[in-house]
Amino acid sequence: MKAIVLHKPGHGSIEMIPEPLVSGRDLLLKIRMVGLCGSDLNSFRGLNPLVTYPRIPGHEVSATVLHGDSKLSVGTDVAIFPYTSCGKCASCRRRRPNACQFNETLGVQRDGALTEFIVMPPEKLYPAKLTTKELCLIEPLTVGFHAVSRGRITAEDTVAVMGCGGVGLGAVAASSSRGARTICIDVDDDKLELARAAGGAHAINSQRESVHDRLMELTEGRGPDVVIEAVGRAATFRAAVEEVSFTGRVVYIGYAKEPVSYETKLFVQKELDVLGSRNASPDDFSAVIRLLEAGKFPVDQAVSSTVTLDEAPDALRSRRWRARTNKERQ
Ligand SMILES: [Zn+2]
Ligand SMILES: [Zn+2]
Repeated sequence: MKAIVLHKPGHGSIEMIPEPLVSGRDLLLKIRMVGLCGSDLNSFRGLNPLVTYPRIPGHEVSATVLHGDSKLSVGTDVAIFPYTSCGKCASCRRRRPNACQFNETLGVQRDGALTEFIVMPPEKLYPAKLTTKELCLIEPLTVGFHAVSRGRITAEDTVAVMGCGGVGLGAVAASSSRGARTICIDVDDDKLELARAAGGAHAINSQRESVHDRLMELTEGRGPDVVIEAVGRAATFRAAVEEVSFTGRVVYIGYAKEPVSYETKLFVQKELDVLGSRNASPDDFSAVIRLLEAGKFPVDQAVSSTVTLDEAPDALRSRRWRARTNKERQ
């Protein structure tokens, strides 16, 4: 079967590899569509330190069951939960396997789905009445959903989301779906428009407007109750603790590429909850599926382009689709 194999940074090609063997309780699936995001681009460019080569990328997956079991019959369309958990580390023991110390994400630490067939254990499969494109969007949206769940966001909150790429967009959709008034912040008007379509109540273009002044104006001078940082830059890491209200919550999803220096007295003075958010949990998958099944997400606007498997290596090399990518993570 065909697969896209990355042999070293910048080199991806279509190759023929053996079809997977089904063993134990695993199910055989046909891959229907795979989403590509900023983390795939980083894998391709050698900028994701967790990737080893050779590697087949692909972690945002829509597939159909070919050999089923009693619960998942042949022909069922599913999304794939791309993470693993060891069951023994501190995170796993606290029932937070999404942050497993030894997690292996599909397409990052183990071979992914940019191929024709894959075998998976049934508990990693999420059936849903969705189109193939929608099934691919589940995984990237869950990352933002998880951040909203970490931030304990309710309808009482005003939430600011810094960065409205794929991950931030999921946070905007999740926060809005919980009834929170959600303020979207980005430098790109197209991303802000999409974030508004996903439920954002207000948009701030940080290149044209003062984020601080607008946030003060929108929150009667208190600052947002929750700030979600989905950019990964030192300036936004700092701005999150500066702009959040007293006794507010800050949730970081962005991976900062450099050390960040802080005015740490703000942590104490404001008595902040500063939280990290990593990957996503099964509950986040169920929540995103409910949102998509309800038709409450601008699916077509969120996908910048669609290519065939044969065209994918060129797509990874091209710069065109970068505008809508999210950040590296996992
Ligand atoms: Zn992704
Ligand atoms: Zn673990």
